[in-house]
Amino acid sequence: MASNQLISDARPVDSGPPAIEVSGLRKDYGGVSAVAGIDLTVAQGEFLSILGPSGSGKSTLLGLIAGLVQPTGGRIMIGSRDVTLVPPAQRDIGLVFQSYALFPNMTVAGNIAFPLAVRGINKCDIKARVEWAIDLVRLNGLENRKPSQLSGGQQQRVAIARAVVFGPRLLLLDEPLAALDRKLREEVRMELRRLQRKLGVTTILVTHDQDEAMSTSDRIAVLAQGVFQQIGTPAELYRQPANRFVAGFLGVANLLDGDVEREGDEAVLTLDGGIKLPLPAGSRLPGSRATMLVRPERINLEPATDVRTGRFGINCEVADVVYQGEIVRYTMQGPSISTNLVASCQHVVPKFSPGDRVCITWRPEDGWLLQDGEK
Ligand code: ADP
Repeated sequence: MASNQLISDARPVDSGPPAIEVSGLRKDYGGVSAVAGIDLTVAQGEFLSILGPSGSGKSTLLGLIAGLVQPTGGRIMIGSRDVTLVPPAQRDIGLVFQSYALFPNMTVAGNIAFPLAVRGINKCDIKARVEWAIDLVRLNGLENRKPSQLSGGQQQRVAIARAVVFGPRLLLLDEPLAALDRKLREEVRMELRRLQRKLGVTTILVTHDQDEAMSTSDRIAVLAQGVFQQIGTPAELYRQPANRFVAGFLGVANLLDGDVEREGDEAVLTLDGGIKLPLPAGSRLPGSRATMLVRPERINLEPATDVRTGRFGINCEVADVVYQGEIVRYTMQGPSISTNLVASCQHVVPKFSPGDRVCITWRPEDGWLLQDGEK
């Protein structure tokens, strides 16, 4: 696991002053660092996801930003205000959790009005504001229902309306869709993105779901063991992951280990089985050993006999074929590769069967050299 934070050059969406700036943020529990010294800048209006597996420190980090967890060290700025020691209610933050945390005895309108009432806003303004929020999350007609009379998706919309009704500077979402079934999750996810764009509110979403992070975010910060592994746009993280962890966490990763060698003017990666792979132009060479990533949809399969001399290719045998409608997914194995390789091909019907001998190729520019090499 890389101990350094690998930050991409991707700029936040707005180059003005950041909405939030976290520096050296740390939370230790006994001898364990749940958050191990995090630096993060989020631009005004940006949608940033913190993506990581269970136990990576996501909720602790969000709790620190919200003020629900006291830091061991570091600083949190929201706008130009240092909020490190400011109580949660005074941070001007809207919060949404996985468990909707609605007041069961209050109606939809009562729940949404609550943050306005505690801020001492007058009744007339509350009414108008609640109507606006109900309209925003499209719950018109359900104002007088109790939470128990709503579906999970509707309850989460109430929670979202309640979090944004007072116009917070920052919206924090902690696995807000995890309790919903798949179809509903996709629906509410799109709704959330639409709403965030409409309001322009700076948003930080915590999730372990890569699809959720990829489809909602301007940028994603990948967290493991309390340390950011990489921060970048979804495309950067998928196409140019900094290390094996990020490569494997976002999508399926074919990883090929070998020695970096010179061939005339060019560098090649010589696999342990002796096959030489061209390196993508401009690759940073990490050292003598390296690992190349090739995504499944970049792989081209040809019958093994079709390989022409002068081109690279890896001869394998098809081990498994799965028809998935939009694509066919082939798993290959062979003596010249140490791990199985996966190809996703847009074949209308499977072109190859288990046991067929195939040659795997890809365009050199579709390979990506990882910077942390072999593990
Ligand atoms: P995630 O949200 O990514 O699942 P958490 O932030 O909940 O991760 O936890 C990160 C690490 O900190 C875990 O190892 C967890 O056991 C530990 N941790 C979290 N909260 C506490 C706590 N209150 N006391 C002790 N350890 C904790």
